[in-house]
Amino acid sequence: MKALWTALLVLVSAISAACGLPTDWFGDAPPPPVETGVTIKMLAVGQGDAILIRTPEQTILVDTGDTSETGRLRAALKKEGVRRVDKLIVTHPHRDHIGGAETVFRMCDVKEVCDNGQPTSTNIYREYLKTIQKKGIPSRTLRDGDVLDLGGGALLRVLSPTQEMVDERGMQNGKVNLNLNSIVARLEYGEFAMMLTGDAEAPTEMGILKRYAPDMLRCSLLKSGHHGSKTASCTKFLQALDADAALVSCGEDNEYHCPHPSVLGRYEQQEMKVFRTDQNGTITVRTDGKAYTVETERDREADAGAKP
Ligand SMILES: [Zn+2]
Repeated sequence: MKALWTALLVLVSAISAACGLPTDWFGDAPPPPVETGVTIKMLAVGQGDAILIRTPEQTILVDTGDTSETGRLRAALKKEGVRRVDKLIVTHPHRDHIGGAETVFRMCDVKEVCDNGQPTSTNIYREYLKTIQKKGIPSRTLRDGDVLDLGGGALLRVLSPTQEMVDERGMQNGKVNLNLNSIVARLEYGEFAMMLTGDAEAPTEMGILKRYAPDMLRCSLLKSGHHGSKTASCTKFLQALDADAALVSCGEDNEYHCPHPSVLGRYEQQEMKVFRTDQNGTITVRTDGKAYTVETERDREADAGAKP
């Protein structure tokens, strides 16, 4: 009997290899797919971003964490049973966002890659482009006004960058600031909305405020821009969003001292709750398009809201 199982296993491995399926996988059965509603998990990957979104039809990963945190990303993807990523969205090519891309390409069958198309000269970025080309993964450049269908009624409405911003390469005080051209997008599902911001800073937020009326920006939750750095989350932006809470992705005792006390003060002023991966671990949001809940891995807190 054992011999038969071994033979079967060898056969399955051979078929998988022949079909080009990811070989760096673990063999654990994936959890059943989400049948209704949208789940958003801000994965605890230290100082960086990795946000897993599951709609009734698709799995989307926004950013991949830092090069130094691929172990955490790998463990999280394994725990979540992610084998296929319908859309990998890289908000901008800094290493704390693109650093785990190779891990994702190795572990998962990535169907499409979306980024802002602004090149940089780092090895990580070169490797990323090389892998996309080698694997023949379709790639797409996102711009203000694009709308991605995430399946099951969920949409991702891109608010930034504009083509003009990318042409200007995010110049700030004579230097290129890649953060400024981060992909900023509003995840929409029924009456629920969450603002995804990458590392966008105040000039990006002000640009969005100029291009969009507040009713296009209002949301239930904000992914805190730039890990809660004081260069993001300007008061006018927060006022327009009118969000219930901010979700901050940052490392324990990180060297950048994120989130900055002044930003926490601004959130408090707007009566926003704060959830942080350094303190709460992975943060899970579930929504049926009307109400939503926020659940944390540590210091379990649950919050149900019905606010659109
Ligand atoms: Zn970052």
